[in-house]
Amino acid sequence: MAAKQKRSRLLALFAFVLLVGAAGVTTYRASITAGTAELEATGRHRLDLYVASLEREIDKYAYFPTTLGLERDVLALLEAPSATRAEAVNRYLERLSERAGTFSIYILDSAGRVVASSNWRRPDNFIGEDLSFRPYFRQAMTQGSGRFFGIGTTRGEPGYYLSSALVDGAQTLGVAVVKVGLDQLENSWTTAEAPALVSDENGVVILTSVPEWKFTTLRPLDEAARNALDRSLQYNRRTLRPLAMRTLATLAGGAQQVRLSDPDAHAPSAFPRAGVYLAQSRPLPGTPWQVTVFSPQRELRAMAANRAALAGVGAAFLFLLGLMLEQRRRHLRDRLAAQAALQRAHDELERKVVERTTDLSSANALLQREVLDRTAAERTLRAAQDELVQAGKLAVIGQMAAGIAHELNQPLAALRTLSGNARKFLARGMQDTASANLERIDELVDRMGQLTAQLKSFARKSSGQPRAVLLRRALDNALFLLEQRLRQAHIVPCIDLPQDAVQLWCDPNRLEQILVNLVSNALDAMEGSQEPFLEIGARLREHRAEIWVRDRGPGISADAAAHLFEPFFTTKDAVNGLGLGLAISAGIAADFNGSLAGANHPDGGAVFTLTLPICETTCAT
Ligand code: ADP
Repeated sequence: MAAKQKRSRLLALFAFVLLVGAAGVTTYRASITAGTAELEATGRHRLDLYVASLEREIDKYAYFPTTLGLERDVLALLEAPSATRAEAVNRYLERLSERAGTFSIYILDSAGRVVASSNWRRPDNFIGEDLSFRPYFRQAMTQGSGRFFGIGTTRGEPGYYLSSALVDGAQTLGVAVVKVGLDQLENSWTTAEAPALVSDENGVVILTSVPEWKFTTLRPLDEAARNALDRSLQYNRRTLRPLAMRTLATLAGGAQQVRLSDPDAHAPSAFPRAGVYLAQSRPLPGTPWQVTVFSPQRELRAMAANRAALAGVGAAFLFLLGLMLEQRRRHLRDRLAAQAALQRAHDELERKVVERTTDLSSANALLQREVLDRTAAERTLRAAQDELVQAGKLAVIGQMAAGIAHELNQPLAALRTLSGNARKFLARGMQDTASANLERIDELVDRMGQLTAQLKSFARKSSGQPRAVLLRRALDNALFLLEQRLRQAHIVPCIDLPQDAVQLWCDPNRLEQILVNLVSNALDAMEGSQEPFLEIGARLREHRAEIWVRDRGPGISADAAAHLFEPFFTTKDAVNGLGLGLAISAGIAADFNGSLAGANHPDGGAVFTLTLPICETTCAT
């Protein structure tokens, strides 16, 4: 993965370098081509200008020598030379030269000797000089006119010689020559923005905007050419150095790319004179000369380099932009893929959730059914428990039946006796005694009513709903039911309750049932005891009441202790014990968030402790 990443990075780098390089090179080339074309056009334009100005300059003097042939004095001098005539012609030529601004104007006879000259007054004048070796003389003599650039033999001044044959009828009498300087032209070139030169038929630079280039050669001269030059004294024996120019390439339009070395780097100049130039040449009409202009390519190259750099930067920018877009696209694609994966995972999850929900709802239905079943079972259990409680009660009542029968028999017997006596007393007229008997009967009936009412209340099926219950009242009711047994056993229970009334949060009927059970068991345990003792007490501890029933019986045997609260566990005979009392009592206590425990007292006997929540003062009685 890392190697792949590295390779793609290298590839991107390679593409980047390639793109930037290609953009730079292409732009550079295109810029050079376009710039060269522009430069060529400019060069051509300059050439046009220079050629035109040179032609104009030369043409100004073109007819001078010819017009001299019209001068009678000149022809007369040639036909018959004399000092007077010569002086007249000299003066004439002098005036003419001054007016025309030429170097000199002079007349040669047919032998090539100077017979009159505009500079006749000067000590170094040409008069008498033999100039027959000059090409312009020979050209004029043979062709009628001649043109020649050369350096003067006398004063060494370079100039352009225009010659014309002086003809009288069919006879050539001599030659008129005008020498003009092209310095002005040259001077105007020095301010041009690029170098320019005029080379003659020998390739020698005769006019140039760079003074150091004058009389240098554009091409090497062979031996024959050198000898010819020596003979014509064209350059007056000047040394002809080659121009420090090297041709680099020849372009399509005939232009050349050349490298110029500056002949004198310190010389003041309006333009650079070294470097790579575009050289363009054109022949000067009417002459064997070539005009050459040089256009510097340095700026062109600098501009092309700038453009290439700019193109490179542009390409780099485009590449980076492309890279960025590509990365963005890839990022987007990854994100979309991640989104799709997420969606798939989500769908899968959803599907699983639906599956699980279906499972869950069926499990839930099962659970609900189970809960319903359990509720039904609980209800059945509760009903069974209630039945059991009821059975317990009935069992207690059954156990108490003998006592109750005795309890009712006694007053019934008393009633019978009292009512019989009352009748007798009434018959005897003993009203008061009869009335006393009747009162006693009332009391007994009340007592019996109370007992049956108590029994009825005990036997009643209670709701089992908790409410505030006064402990004292429940205890009194329980003891009332057991009054006969207590009396028989000669037991007066010792009651030890807190001073403030204790209110419990339970069902009064069931509380009575527990108390009846506990007291009954205590009485059973102490049956036949010599010193029976029953204590019923209560104390409050942390929102609960602890109610104890203590006897002084034999206590709970180890065997019984293990099974005390098990239903149907009894150590008593079938008549006296069902083994339900404690089991039911413990169940009732638990129903009201309480508990029941049995233990042996250190001083002997058993003590049963019932713990039940108390009702705070806010509870209604
Ligand atoms: P029953 O009284 O019908 O036997 P209980 O559930 O009330 O049923 O009592 C179960 C047994 O617990 C009794 O048979 C007895 O052995 C023992 N027991 C209960 N109370 C006492 C007590 N105060 N002293 C000694 N043993 C007791």
